Amino acid sequence: MSAETQTAADQASHSRCWCCGRARSEDALVHLGNHPEVGICVNCVHFLRRRARDHQATVMRQRLRSAAESVRGEVMARGWHQRPVIGPALRWVNQHLPW
Ligand SMILES: [Zn+2]
Repeated sequence: MSAETQTAADQASHSRCWCCGRARSEDALVHLGNHPEVGICVNCVHFLRRRARDHQATVMRQRLRSAAESVRGEVMARGWHQRPVIGPALRWVNQHLPW
């Protein structure tokens, strides 16, 4: 078998992952719902899932941070942080927030 026929045979039984570009057998690829021509290998599916989770966590953190900052702004504007009971409680919360 020449190199060219070998390549043609490979292409017939293998498709390339649209994410990492590696040749994979057709049954090792996951296809997108609206773009079935796009196949992604299982490794990349896991990789993308991790990326999605990290992305979601980052978005969540940003949302929480801006919510906390707006609450903090309100508290400062009303002077609640200087009240005898609420003040120390708010400072404690502030110190124990993850940022
Ligand atoms: Zn891949």
